[in-house]
Amino acid sequence: MISIRQVSKGFTVQGKQIPILSIPSWDVAAGEKIAIIGPSGSGKSTLLHLLAGIISPDKGEIHVFSKPLHQLSEAQRDQYRATSIGYIFQDFHLIPSLTAKQNIELVLPGTLLLKEKNNLLNHWFQQVGLHDRMHHLPSQLSRGQQQRVAIIRALIHNPPLILADEPTGSLDWETAGELTELLLNICLTEKITLITVTHDLNLAERFVKRVHISDLNEAHRAGKAPTAPSRKELAL
Ligand code: ADP
Ligand code: MG
Repeated sequence: MISIRQVSKGFTVQGKQIPILSIPSWDVAAGEKIAIIGPSGSGKSTLLHLLAGIISPDKGEIHVFSKPLHQLSEAQRDQYRATSIGYIFQDFHLIPSLTAKQNIELVLPGTLLLKEKNNLLNHWFQQVGLHDRMHHLPSQLSRGQQQRVAIIRALIHNPPLILADEPTGSLDWETAGELTELLLNICLTEKITLITVTHDLNLAERFVKRVHISDLNEAHRAGKAPTAPSRKELAL
């Protein structure tokens, strides 16, 4: 479903090219749930950005659902993101002046009938245990509840692939565990492929498949990519 071949990506800073990712080969099958672990600066977010079509590789090929991302125009990549990808951020990215429900309505197609829309919203708020919090503003929700709203926003258009970048990074450990279980269960039931980046080895343990970024990324393994590991990460 995902196939990466000979992909490299670097950034130019002050005229100097810094290699960040160099991935000879990586495949992900449909329905897999994978935790990607690795220290800060090792290219985890860059990898998710490539898979979401937010950025393009300098070299190499990335196919997702047989779509050659490396060949798509910006407009085609926008379309790909809108239909095929659900993206979850560490810090939720909810609009503070809109209620939980309005934050989700914003991403729903305008063509939906009112009844369909309400059924869909009720279904998903129920699924994540927030049916009595639909009319709350983000500031009136706990951080875990805000991330549940962001999960609905990522899932409501039925994407076959969810990319989550440290989705529990700003939550306490108990909430982080609950949220990871929720995400894993939903992806299992809905047959969604899930790629989560996490620092937290305890959370990564909940995934059947764990991949250390150095196992994919030759640039990092060779010590070429700059990293700034924290003490906790050094224990990896
Ligand atoms: P991670 O998510 O593993 O912490 P990132 O993928 O965010 O790592 O970043 C990998 C490296 O690429 C870091 O050293 C970072 O500073 C660098 N980097 C990321 N984005 C850019 C950019 N737009 N311009 C320059 N350097 C960048
Ligand atoms: Mg990151």
